[in-house]
Amino acid sequence: MNHPLRCQCGTLRGHVSRPETVCRGVCYCKDCQAYAHFLGKADDILDEIGGSDVIATLPQHVTFTQGLEALTCMSLSDKGMLRWYASCCNTPVGNTARDFRISHVGLLHNCLEDPSTSLDSAFGPVRMRVGMKSAKGTPKAMPVSTTVSLLRFMATLVRTRLNGSYRITPFFNPDDGTPRVQPKVLTPDERARLTEAL
Ligand SMILES: [Zn+2]
Ligand SMILES: [Zn+2]
Repeated sequence: MNHPLRCQCGTLRGHVSRPETVCRGVCYCKDCQAYAHFLGKADDILDEIGGSDVIATLPQHVTFTQGLEALTCMSLSDKGMLRWYASCCNTPVGNTARDFRISHVGLLHNCLEDPSTSLDSAFGPVRMRVGMKSAKGTPKAMPVSTTVSLLRFMATLVRTRLNGSYRITPFFNPDDGTPRVQPKVLTPDERARLTEAL
């Protein structure tokens, strides 16, 4: 079963396959908060204590079917992760490592909204919370299955490295692993301006 993926305005569309294999988490780190402000969508992206709901999956499970030319990316620093979003309406799509051999994408909840189902029923409950020291409050207690689901996800990641399937990704060129678009990297000043508002 595929879960639909779309940006807010509907230009960029696609789907996520195997939604039952994902690992869902919330990240409260300052970088994710700064990114939400960069897009001008902090209210849409962040929960009431500054968390971003993220669905971690393999890039090979993400397929774009329309509007790929709108997919662009930025980074908060020259070593930071690549943060992919739809340039048409600034909907965040997903975050990847800079090295495509790390076969991971954290899809932001905003591109996965589907009127026919909830995130809980499509992807299961939140199983991970990271960056909690930057949270603006105390998050709810976590289910005990966190470690198990994290380990299972890590094992899948290692497998893609061994069998070479990390090359199947819509975010990078399969031959040389360069990102499909040149990331816009913020200068230290631009970045400082975003974080000082947090
Ligand atoms: Zn759009
Ligand atoms: Zn984060």
